[in-house]
Amino acid sequence: MITIDNVSKAFGGLQAVQGVSFEVTQGSITGLIGPNGAGKSTLFNMVAGLFPPDTGRITLDGTDITGLPPHKLFHMGLVRTFQIPHEFSRMTVRENLMVVPPGQSGENLFNAWLRWGRVRREDGRVLDRVEEVLAFLQIDHLADELAGNLSGGQKKLLDLGRAMMTDAKAVLLDEPGAGVNRTLLGKIREAIQRLNTEQGYTFCVIEHDMDLISALCEPVYVMANGALIASGTMDELRQNEQVREAYLGGGMSGQAGAQ
Ligand code: ADP
Ligand code: MG
Repeated sequence: MITIDNVSKAFGGLQAVQGVSFEVTQGSITGLIGPNGAGKSTLFNMVAGLFPPDTGRITLDGTDITGLPPHKLFHMGLVRTFQIPHEFSRMTVRENLMVVPPGQSGENLFNAWLRWGRVRREDGRVLDRVEEVLAFLQIDHLADELAGNLSGGQKKLLDLGRAMMTDAKAVLLDEPGAGVNRTLLGKIREAIQRLNTEQGYTFCVIEHDMDLISALCEPVYVMANGALIASGTMDELRQNEQVREAYLGGGMSGQAGAQ
């Protein structure tokens, strides 16, 4: 559903992404791995419309979305979460979910967030969905907690919850496991899996935790130095000498060496 075709991006003299092509097929949980500085987040930023690629083309369900800004993509059902969660710290968890209403046509995401007061007064649909999402992610007990008081892992769950409040078809997750303890990582992993199988979400996941990638992702793409160097199942990639050298090193399970 998302095709990335020969996309490149330079920052000054630095070629952050060079000629990368791959697909995120509908219904997949596609993995993207590689050492720090490989260009993974830059690629996500281009797909998510934070800045356009220098060259290349990106399509969503056949529609050219190259260079479209995030709020346009949001209305087309493409959302991303960030390596560092962007929750509103002085609002409660429940309020954070309410400010991402589904399909407020004609409004951009930022306005939609700012207009939460109106959303709150809307019909019960948004509120029902909020309770559903809280229960699904097993964070109902945190509903009235200020988001700023959550642990790193709980913030990641809230971030996923906010993606669930949109009409997302495809969700880009940038390191959902970063800085998260094992228990919460298990929850995040389960949430991604269930959102995929039970609710039809497509994911593209950047992550250093190879257990999570192995358990969830197929196919997995590997980037190094701005280029795509391999793709396949995690089992295949573990046998790939180039991938082992570039990234996996000696540690074949758990956190990959490069951080
Ligand atoms: P990854 O997510 O794989 O760790 P990034 O995409 O963040 O890698 O970074 C790829 C390269 O691009 C790095 O060398 C990084 O320093 C550089 N880079 C990323 N974003 C910017 C930016 N906004 N301005 C300048 N250089 C950047
Ligand atoms: Mg990154």
